[in-house]
Amino acid sequence: MGLLKPRWRVARDGAFCTLRGVRDSLHPLVRDLVPSLIDDIKRALIDNDEGEATGKVDQLEAWGRCPCGDDFCSSFSTGPLPKGAASEKDEYRTIAVPVSSGLVFLTIAASEVRYVEVLYSPDIAASLKQLPALSRQG
Ligand SMILES: [Zn+2]
Repeated sequence: MGLLKPRWRVARDGAFCTLRGVRDSLHPLVRDLVPSLIDDIKRALIDNDEGEATGKVDQLEAWGRCPCGDDFCSSFSTGPLPKGAASEKDEYRTIAVPVSSGLVFLTIAASEVRYVEVLYSPDIAASLKQLPALSRQG
């Protein structure tokens, strides 16, 4: 219990209430925001034997954008990350997603994708423009 303490919070929630009016969540689905990415994510998970995570991809919610402010970065969170560096504990893994342009990496914890690192992909950046930026907690 309490192993996966949330480290990220959406800075301004409520922004997507109207986008998914019938859903009982404040966060938009990743498949609605960046539909082009979903098949690539699933393929990468299957190729890396992350079968359990693959089954949850369609329900993945985008919690918020990376707050770093770098032009080339359009990374976003899809859930709470465990504390501690990846090298300290084997609590989470990072896998690469082969994409046609830019770089995409997934962070997986507790058999779920928790973070999608997206670099040098203007198309995905444009799709995420309305997603609020995260604020770092702790
Ligand atoms: Zn960033």
